[in-house]
Amino acid sequence: MTNLRTIITGAALAVAVSSSMNITAANPRPDALSSAPAPFDYTVDRFADIEVLRYQVPGFESLPLRQKMLIYYLTEAAIAGRDMLWDQNNIYNLPIRELLESVYTSEATDRSGDDWKAFETYLKQVWFGNGIHHHYSMDKFTPGFSREWFTEQVAKIPEPIGMFDEGKPSFDLLADVIFDPEVMSKRVNQAEGADLIATSANNLYETGLTQADVEAYYNAIKDTTVANPISYGLNTRVARDPQSGRIVEQPYRLGGLYSPAISRIVDNLRAAADYADTPAQREVISKLIQYYATGNLADFDEYSILWVDDTDSRVDFINGFIESYGDPLGMTGAYESIVNFKDLEASGRTETISANAQWFEDHSPVDPRFRKDKVKGVTAKVITAAILAGDAYPATPIGINLPNANWIRAAHGSKSVTIENITRAYDEASHGNGFNEEFVPDAATRKLLDKYLFITDNLHTDLHECLGHGSGRLLPGVDPDALKAHGSTLEEARADLFALYYLADPKLVELGLLDSPEAYKASYYKYLLNGLMTQLMRIEPGKDVEEAHMRNRKLIAEWVLEKGKPAKVVELVNRKGKTYVKINDYEALRGLFGELLAEVQRIRSEGDYEAGRDLVEKYGVKVDPKLHREVLDRYSHLDIAPYRGFVNPVYTPVTDADGRITDITIDYTEDYPSQMLRYSRDYSTLNK
Ligand code: ZN
Repeated sequence: MTNLRTIITGAALAVAVSSSMNITAANPRPDALSSAPAPFDYTVDRFADIEVLRYQVPGFESLPLRQKMLIYYLTEAAIAGRDMLWDQNNIYNLPIRELLESVYTSEATDRSGDDWKAFETYLKQVWFGNGIHHHYSMDKFTPGFSREWFTEQVAKIPEPIGMFDEGKPSFDLLADVIFDPEVMSKRVNQAEGADLIATSANNLYETGLTQADVEAYYNAIKDTTVANPISYGLNTRVARDPQSGRIVEQPYRLGGLYSPAISRIVDNLRAAADYADTPAQREVISKLIQYYATGNLADFDEYSILWVDDTDSRVDFINGFIESYGDPLGMTGAYESIVNFKDLEASGRTETISANAQWFEDHSPVDPRFRKDKVKGVTAKVITAAILAGDAYPATPIGINLPNANWIRAAHGSKSVTIENITRAYDEASHGNGFNEEFVPDAATRKLLDKYLFITDNLHTDLHECLGHGSGRLLPGVDPDALKAHGSTLEEARADLFALYYLADPKLVELGLLDSPEAYKASYYKYLLNGLMTQLMRIEPGKDVEEAHMRNRKLIAEWVLEKGKPAKVVELVNRKGKTYVKINDYEALRGLFGELLAEVQRIRSEGDYEAGRDLVEKYGVKVDPKLHREVLDRYSHLDIAPYRGFVNPVYTPVTDADGRITDITIDYTEDYPSQMLRYSRDYSTLNK
């Protein structure tokens, strides 16, 4: 299972034509098949290597009041956990945030010079990283303002700041943490051979603990004999008991660590439970409340099972300590919450594809011996996010696949969702960033991309996930791991080729999934452009392609380029010293995709390791250094932020004379600093 769009969303998804206007009304798209730009301004802020966007929540306003109330309380629960993540990320994040925000809002602060400008950028970075480290590289941010300037501004703050109360870290200490590059330089250190606990600056383990301490502790308590192990350490901080000197876990729960934040989450979950979509969902919520009260990880597993089994509720949410990328040992979950509701129209798309799974299998261009007699499509749900919080904010995933516990996945399955209002925001915000003007030579192709790339990209993902991976079969006796190290590249190629081949099939128009037999060309063009050229921007000069998805795309694109050479199906053309992809015959290109699909399926079905290895090594790995340099150079002239994230909409209850809630309104106008300052003002639970 892989999330294709996690990798292709970003600059590669850029489309032409800028047409954003400053209208903030939430007009949901009347026609899901068209991707003409909506009158919505997606861009909110731009600083350092970051672009902040906003997203629409189409369909919220037409939900019944009960579901709006449910969403409202769940969003309140989501934001209530914010301070936990900040504190998990670093022990000084909360006092530093207070210090920075005090300078930022103080009337006495000098806003005239370069120090102020650099300070503003730094604070925006800290907000984005939920602390003093970069959300992706994990490196500490480097302030561009001087310690002297900062010290002066802090001294001028007229209001006393609570953080200088007794028992709180001193200004000098916080200034060292901000300015000294040696202090807490990396949030999560994964370097081979280092003490991963001692050298990581997160607050999941008390300062002074070593990796050996922590590993010895867990080795002693872990029961590896049971079939359904709890997720050890998921909701705890590890510390040394000052009295006994023994290593202990401090659970995040009511009455334990982070109690004020959790208490506020629980209050809002209780309020939400009254408006639950189904009795099953009410049970999900009450089990989550129980888990927050006990901190018992067996309760969390029971909650996860109830959650994954509840497929009938339209509104859904996650709230808890979920992904463990912030822990060098991969144990403790970062606080995260996403509230969402099912996009019925777009989910209809994946349901249609799955319902026709057998037709696609029976008509695929592979040898009938390698086809499945009976194939079952996987239905992936398409959702609309209503709030992003904790570790999913401001940088957010575009898909969710949970729960993480392997034994629960094996016994109860998992929920796999695509967050389409987020992918749409990424797509729309790329309009006019100059990418297509630079890399797509003719206006007709740019128009095609503008019109059909969004829908065909989504369909590509649907076909890849719902059908591609599940199609085909191994011949009896063939080892599923026969392709060894090249297995995942070839598996991704198989799923991509299945999607590419069928994107051009009239069946998609017949099923109502596309409104034009030309639409697929947008996807074909972008796929080849990415595979032959633009994905190289992610590779450092001198390096080969290593990642499986990237190898797969390069393999497919280079193979059709070479095989189509005699008939000039696809060409790389040079104009004024720049290289461009030119597709001369789309139908023949589809034929080539079909041919390669048949071959890759044969390799997989027969376990033909040598043929698989040769394909990958010949087409998927080696980078042409000259073309690579050219792509990097052309890319560097475009002002495209490598990282993007979001502000949330604002939900406000409307009450009648008796104080009863009669509606929940949604507003998109809040800017980035205002939202961050409001969250700090209204949802500070731990920095008191
Ligand atoms: Zn895949």
